[in-house]
Amino acid sequence: MNSPTIAIAIDGPAASGKSTVAKTLAKRLGLIMVNTGAMYRAVAWATIQKNIDPTDTDAVINMISEVVFTCGVEDGFSTILVDGFYPGEELRQDAVNGRVSKVAAIPEVRKLLVAKQREYLRLGSVVMEGRDIGSVVFPDTPFKLYIDASEEVRLARRSAEGLADEVAKRDAEDSKRKTSPLIVADGATVIDSSEMGIEEVVQAAMDILREKGAPEELLNR
Ligand code: C5P
Repeated sequence: MNSPTIAIAIDGPAASGKSTVAKTLAKRLGLIMVNTGAMYRAVAWATIQKNIDPTDTDAVINMISEVVFTCGVEDGFSTILVDGFYPGEELRQDAVNGRVSKVAAIPEVRKLLVAKQREYLRLGSVVMEGRDIGSVVFPDTPFKLYIDASEEVRLARRSAEGLADEVAKRDAEDSKRKTSPLIVADGATVIDSSEMGIEEVVQAAMDILREKGAPEELLNR
């Protein structure tokens, strides 16, 4: 008998290390890794291409009804196409960083993307990272982690990647929005990764998943 599909939810602020943890965990456990930030970034990127003001809610809603966002999986990682085009590294541009939290605050954008995120479970078990995965996308999963790090550490991590991202500003926007703000979901376990290396965080995550009852055959892959 096949094991039931499971969703491991990994949330946290920008540059907390959650993507690296999610990727490593997904690879180790043989699960699909879904980066939901890339989906919101794709919407922000599309507003740049179409010359749309990200704060003009009606224009953004109109745009998402016309543009086709296609989610898939390649080599175990989620992918997104915008009208058949793969924006790739362009999703990490400063221009996208500057507007992504604005489009992500629009409830209609969230509704569209959350539906696409839930569909991934049809393909198999997932490690999904974002801001509202444990609170909104999969509120019933027992496997919820919240990866945090001090603002200083998060800024240092981003600049080590050569990215001048206004992390604090984005976090403030993500935390104060009305719809699905960044919160520690009910039942989530917080890991503060400020003083930890990646392997240590992954090990801590595996221990928490075991405590929460993740199947041994999954953890021992
Ligand atoms: O994870 P990443 O930093 O790439 O996310 C980019 C932005 O997308 C976040 O700052 C946030 O505004 C938005 N986001 C969100 N909900 C998610 C994932 C990302 O609102 N689940």
